[in-house]
Amino acid sequence: MGGAYDLVVRGGRIVTAEGVVLADLAVAEGRIAAIAPAIGGSGTEEIDAGGLHVFPGILDAHVHFNEPGRTEWEGLASGSAALAAAGGTVFCDMPLNSVPPVLDGASFARKRALAQEKSALDFALWGGLVPGNIDRLEELRAAGAIGLKAFLCGSGVEEFPAVTDPSILRAGMRRAAALGLLVAVHAADDALAGRLTSAARARGAADPASWLATRPVEVELAAIRTATDIAGETGCALHVVHVSSPEGLALISAARRRGADVTAETCPHYLLLTEDEVVRQGAPAKCAPPLRSEARRRKLWRAVLAGGVDTIGSDHSPAPPEMKTSPDFFAVWGGISGCQHAFPLLLSEALEGGPAAEVLPRLSALLAANVAARFRLGPRKGRLAEGADADFALLDLRGVHVLRNAELLYRHRQGPYDGRRSTVAVVRTVQRGRTVYADGRVAPGRRTAHFLTPSTP
Ligand SMILES: [Zn+2]
Repeated sequence: MGGAYDLVVRGGRIVTAEGVVLADLAVAEGRIAAIAPAIGGSGTEEIDAGGLHVFPGILDAHVHFNEPGRTEWEGLASGSAALAAAGGTVFCDMPLNSVPPVLDGASFARKRALAQEKSALDFALWGGLVPGNIDRLEELRAAGAIGLKAFLCGSGVEEFPAVTDPSILRAGMRRAAALGLLVAVHAADDALAGRLTSAARARGAADPASWLATRPVEVELAAIRTATDIAGETGCALHVVHVSSPEGLALISAARRRGADVTAETCPHYLLLTEDEVVRQGAPAKCAPPLRSEARRRKLWRAVLAGGVDTIGSDHSPAPPEMKTSPDFFAVWGGISGCQHAFPLLLSEALEGGPAAEVLPRLSALLAANVAARFRLGPRKGRLAEGADADFALLDLRGVHVLRNAELLYRHRQGPYDGRRSTVAVVRTVQRGRTVYADGRVAPGRRTAHFLTPSTP
């Protein structure tokens, strides 16, 4: 007699770090009990995955779900549902755009309680590093923050001030290093962006092309230099979020060669879209840093495939339609709604460049294993192996789907991918053995999200 399992997924192509294997996957008590050809015994639930790929659940370390406080922008329930539809199983919510922003233990506890009540997925939370909260960083660590986010330029919201003074960044990173906390930076040089913006505004500029010209790559590079230098000096672990340029990646690799503990995130939109889309589509494609040239997009892809990027996060940054419709492009909210469409589309585009058996394991590292490793979310997250949490997505690579904004589960059905063709469809998402998304819908039932904290190194 074989053992009885809670769930057996039969005959799927299982994506592991080493490659793709045709096998069954058995789940007991939320964890992967076995991966093997033809597992004996039956499961209480059986899923036929013949013809499908079993991909590790995506850990999206960069989302803005904006709850509490700006739930009319998104929300923990709608945001996590949309990510589940993309094959996501874990999100890490950024500390800003929620009100209050997460700058101390009390605001952290409030967001954690709401996420536990509303999230469809397991989650972790970022704390913020702003001028004036250095003596709160210890509370944030004690509360379980995966790291601290700092803006080196204006964040777009008043309650989350920028760290424009390098001496404050240095003091914050020194304190973070002492506490064992990683710091993530939004790298944009505030003074340079400010000068270019003032000059453009003085000319009366209000169109997308003029706005793009105020955010050249130099704005990103100057800030990456500052942050990586301070990381080297203080010994603080640094994660540069949403790197938009190959030149930015080169600065990060150079800092790493000098011994700094620095990693790079990029986002699907820098790999799927270019500055031409900003001019063509306008508001749905406005983000910061902005989309770049086709030449830079191609170089970024090469870096992704060659190991020059550590993680990919969506930077899902939604806003209500009214904030995305101003005739003055400078006033339009800068943020792309992307956590649902961007991930399958990213895999689809990657598969055009090579066989699934090579492409999927490589992308799974950037979307899952590397994220779990960098944020110390534990050996049970980020990979498909015996003993790990049974967090995975079933992907169908056999058809072509035209993405439609109408199918988005965001609070506001807007995004820059409407009409794009994807050969990757997420047919089901499973978290700790339980189906959380299938057939276009989030599974009903009681929320059982787990709050994740960094494990000790
Ligand atoms: Zn962001």
